[in-house]
Amino acid sequence: MRTLKLNEDSSKLANEVISDLKSSPSLELFKCIQCGMCTSLCPGARYSDYNPREMVKRVLDGDESVVFDDNIWNCFYCYTCNSVCPANNSASVVNQILRQMAINKGEQTERLAAFLTYGDSFLEIGIGSIPAAFFDVLVNDFGPEWLDLKMNLDSVRKDLGLGQVTLPEESIEEIDKILNVTGFTKKMGKIRGSK
Ligand code: SF4
Ligand code: SF4
Repeated sequence: MRTLKLNEDSSKLANEVISDLKSSPSLELFKCIQCGMCTSLCPGARYSDYNPREMVKRVLDGDESVVFDDNIWNCFYCYTCNSVCPANNSASVVNQILRQMAINKGEQTERLAAFLTYGDSFLEIGIGSIPAAFFDVLVNDFGPEWLDLKMNLDSVRKDLGLGQVTLPEESIEEIDKILNVTGFTKKMGKIRGSK
């Protein structure tokens, strides 16, 4: 009788994905039956060489090169794959974890440049606000009134009898401490430095 010898490391990557903080107990990665439903409806797959079914297979095969595959950055996080998967797997969640693995290894950090401005907003005013770098595009789309509203939002809200959107100074300081203690601020610096 032929005995199939399993490589003990072949499930290392899949187990790392399952035990990642971004994962959840309901993620049925090992139940993927390679049906391809996720890929058939995936907008990322339609417009690029990205293939969520193949990505999941490579994770299950223990192919660690998938972490550094440029194509995994073509996922839109629309979660369509999740909604159609008969195994209750989520290629979207798997993708998020793979990307994070790449970033933790100092790879692909340049892709986060646009998002750093959102992080800066948390550090500066305690909330995620549209970065100034995008103002021109939004004025182009919505007209100069948009910028006027954006810059005077608190006073407009006051006129309407609504509370202000911006946070009081003590709350911003409190959030700043949380971001420091949780390592967010340090990670922002690391990503900025490795761009
Ligand atoms: S839809 Fe689910 S089971 Fe089918 S290939 Fe995609 S992840 Fe696997
Ligand atoms: S979340 Fe990503 S992998 Fe899933 S269908 Fe959308 S683009 Fe494709």
